[in-house]
Amino acid sequence: MRLTNIKCGKQSMVSLLAAGAVLILLGAWILRMFWPTGEELIAVVTVEGEKVMEIPLSEIEGTVQWSLLEEYGVPVHLQAEKGRIRFVDVECPDHICEKSGWLVAQYQSAVCMPNRTVVSVYPASYDHQETLLAAMTAGQEEKDTE
Ligand SMILES: [Zn+2]
Repeated sequence: MRLTNIKCGKQSMVSLLAAGAVLILLGAWILRMFWPTGEELIAVVTVEGEKVMEIPLSEIEGTVQWSLLEEYGVPVHLQAEKGRIRFVDVECPDHICEKSGWLVAQYQSAVCMPNRTVVSVYPASYDHQETLLAAMTAGQEEKDTE
């Protein structure tokens, strides 16, 4: 009886260890999915569907804050640190945008509906040339008339 108990205990120890190993692997996998992967992240800010800012989050040092009020007419502030960005100090009724907190991983985004402002995080490789090209073309539209 005692012996089987000990054996049983050992077995559950082994399965516990195995379960632990699986959990660690799973945790590592989840972290890899959702944590900054070391890939460069860019935050794309749009106001009324138009891209107004593109912020390379990986290159930020310290804490940087922008106001979108003067340039883009929305009472929104954005705060960014290395690898992350969030809405702060926004004038809107619900503050859902601020409650979204930090965006830290690729394809995360936060929206301020009342101010029609969207912040999305992309890996720098994602569609970057196309968006860059679009931004350049948009910027040139006023200068060049083809
Ligand atoms: Zn808001």
